[in-house]
Amino acid sequence: MTLTLDIFKKNFQLIQQKIEEAAIRAGRKSQDIRIMAVTKSFPAEYIEIACRGGISLFGENRVQEAVEKYGSLAGQGMHNQDDLELHLVGHLQRNKAKKAAETFCCVQSIDKPETAIALQRHCQSLRRQMDILLEMNTSGEESKYGFRNEDELISALDSIMELSCLRVRGLMTIGPFTQDTLRVSKAFARLKGLYQRLKECYPGLVLDTLSMGMSGDFEIAVEEGSTLVRIGTALFGQRE
Ligand SMILES: *Cc1c(COP(=O)(O)O)cnc(C)c1O
Repeated sequence: MTLTLDIFKKNFQLIQQKIEEAAIRAGRKSQDIRIMAVTKSFPAEYIEIACRGGISLFGENRVQEAVEKYGSLAGQGMHNQDDLELHLVGHLQRNKAKKAAETFCCVQSIDKPETAIALQRHCQSLRRQMDILLEMNTSGEESKYGFRNEDELISALDSIMELSCLRVRGLMTIGPFTQDTLRVSKAFARLKGLYQRLKECYPGLVLDTLSMGMSGDFEIAVEEGSTLVRIGTALFGQRE
């Protein structure tokens, strides 16, 4: 293990400063942007360091990895819904929906109604409410998950809205992997436009989350309206 609390704090401060600057450039307030620590493939010790360093919002990619790492924290009395909020940011398979319903506050990666329906069923038997985000594929990259266009999104949303245990809070995307910053900002701007149209067309939904931006592109995402950036390597260092 190489990460120390000091290193973590420095990384975190630098990210906060960059978010502040990007927010100012866009005429926004940095308080309106949440920072999530994405701990996938990092050891459970890093979660504790991040908690001590001031992070309370965490993301994991895989259900099983989250159960193992965050479950072990529960054993140490660290995992308490009040001070740690855990989201799933990676693809969810239907057969993992039960574990997901038991483990996460929010699933950010809903990309088809069937997944939401499976989550609904398990949330119902657990008598719990769950937040979800709908994932859009804004890059056009075939390898990425997410709804491909507005029509797909709307028709899914119309059925997902009926699910009483799930609260749709907004949209999530993974930006295109490219050095072409214009392409990245266009993808994020597209998601923001879609988010605003949803707000207009669905006044009954409480939409407050636009999850976009990772270590390589969070400043662009903030300029384009992100309310939640998902940061792994810029906080913790390279993954093995
Ligand atoms: C891994 C991952 C992140 C964080 O990526 P970094 O580039 O390490 O910041 C954010 N969101 C999702 C969906 C991820 O899979």
